[in-house]
Amino acid sequence: MNILIYPDPRLRQKAKPVKEITEDLREKAEVMLQLMYQAEGIGLAATQAGWPVRLLVKDPTGEKAGERVYINPVIIHQEGESLEEEGCLSLPGVFGKIPRSEKVKVSAYNLEGDELALEASGLEARVWQHEIDHLNGVLIIDKMTPASSIANSRRIKELEAIYKEGVAITRSL
Ligand code: ZN
Repeated sequence: MNILIYPDPRLRQKAKPVKEITEDLREKAEVMLQLMYQAEGIGLAATQAGWPVRLLVKDPTGEKAGERVYINPVIIHQEGESLEEEGCLSLPGVFGKIPRSEKVKVSAYNLEGDELALEASGLEARVWQHEIDHLNGVLIIDKMTPASSIANSRRIKELEAIYKEGVAITRSL
């Protein structure tokens, strides 16, 4: 597994719900946590690792403590508004202002199959919304303000050119 970079089409896949917590799923979730920490991220969705299931890992504290793997997460309530700058491990060098809800309530399952009812605000609420967007194939470039879109347009084109070149090299090998 590795972290896919925009515009890899697999980032646009809509992830399917997890139906069973298997040993394979636990192992892949562990690899995702390693990928997230290596990249110094605070969240990673399975779709970003080319695995289209509704699972994400997150650790906004970076303290490697507590619950970090969430299965079939759903935002059941959101309130307030917040406009802050966000980046994404799949869009290196792209940072833009993204409107989000200030607070969310989330329902999810842990690796033991227990249903969790979670509340978050501020940065943590932002991480939930960002990662759940990934599970629906939605990226920050879809939601950033028009001013941020303009500010990032050169970098986005660069990433598209790098990807195209990478695909061409792979094909010629
Ligand atoms: Zn992201």
